[in-house]
Order: sequence, then structure tokens, then C-alpha cells
Amino acid sequence: MLRNYKESFIRLFYPAACALCSEMLDLEERILCAGCARTLNDLVWPLDEAWVEERFESLDHVWAVFAYRSPFKELLHDVKYARKDHLLKACRGPALSLAQAITSDHAYDAILPIPIHRLKLIKRHFNQAEVLAELLDPELTPPLARSLLIKRHPIPSQTFLNHEERAINVYGAFKVRRPKKIAGRAFLLIDDVFTTGATADEAARTLKSHGARRVDLLALARTVRTS
Ligand SMILES: [Zn+2]
Repeated sequence: MLRNYKESFIRLFYPAACALCSEMLDLEERILCAGCARTLNDLVWPLDEAWVEERFESLDHVWAVFAYRSPFKELLHDVKYARKDHLLKACRGPALSLAQAITSDHAYDAILPIPIHRLKLIKRHFNQAEVLAELLDPELTPPLARSLLIKRHPIPSQTFLNHEERAINVYGAFKVRRPKKIAGRAFLLIDDVFTTGATADEAARTLKSHGARRVDLLALARTVRTS
């Protein structure tokens, strides 16, 4: 509460703008104005539609919080390419609700953000999947394991590849750091956007090749086919 007062007081002298539409924020608004927060909220999948009805080679279950549409797209673009990792806080509420629903239904030994390659990390300064996992971590029971999985090499752009080509493109991209911590365990992977699932499926394949019992994925958003 005191923090809110402090923030409001600071805001009197240093007004903040909405991260999406640049309108000036009211004192009680955070990151997004009420209108943009509502539009973003409209993209949240209802709980019974958050599960992705698709079968994967190695991933057991996949859930996504948002539909990957405007204005979520713009928000995530700014997170990744304008180095505004704090904007992910605008997604915390719905992401936490889904994460809590999943982890209360299924028992996991650890939560694993999908790693990015160290060269990308140097360029971007943070891994958005890890920032998201850190935002959720204090409210979740399974511990956050940052370094069990590492990215061996950067994955070339997947944009123009079909499903099979993507699977080949990502093969061998991940490496397990402490195999003893993998065998017989269940993991919930965290990632930003789920498109075909090739990357997350490869991460799951790598974990299962070291004996992981179950690997699920919670993605912040999933792309929606426009047909
Ligand atoms: Zn706005």
C-alpha cells in the first residue's frame, strides 16, 4: 500500500505514458491505460480453451495464456526488441492464474524457462521466458530451475519453414547441464510464443532423452491460424 502511495506521489512529478497507445496514465494505472489493458485482457484464452489440442512428439501438454494478436504482439515486440522487459508485468495476472491452475492439477519437479543462446542474451540483456518465469515464481510451488537446460547454438529463423523443416532446424539445439537432475522428473517449460511447437518439442525431446518423465509447456501466447 505504502509503495502505491509512493508511486502515485512520484507520478505527480514524473507522469508515465501507456506502453501501447502513449496516452498519459492515471495515477492508479500501471504500464497500460485502462483501455489497452482491457483490449489485452480480451486476448486471454478462457481457462477451458487455454489447452492446445494438438499432439506432439515429446511434449505432453501445452497451454497458452494469450492469443498472439495485436496488441499483445506489439507489447512482446517492445519487450524483445526495445529491451523493455518490465512490460511483461502487464501479462503477469492472467499468466499467474493459468500457471496456478496447471500446477495445482499436475505435480512438477521444476519450472524451466526455455533458454536462449548466450549471444542473443548478450544482445538482448535478458531471456524473456526467464523474466516471465521469475514474475510467476514467488506464487508457484515447483521451484524455478534456470540452468538445467542450455541452448547449444542459435536457431536460424523459422519464419518461412514448414513443420518438418522446423523440426530439423531445431534438432540438437539444446543440451542438458545436470543429467542427474532430469531422470524421473516432471517439468513445466515456460516460453513466450508458441507457433508450431518445434522449439519446445525439441527441448522436451532433449529432457526425455535424459529420462524426464513428463514435459509440459506453458506459453505466454499462441499464434492463431487465420483461414
Ligand atoms: Zn493505452
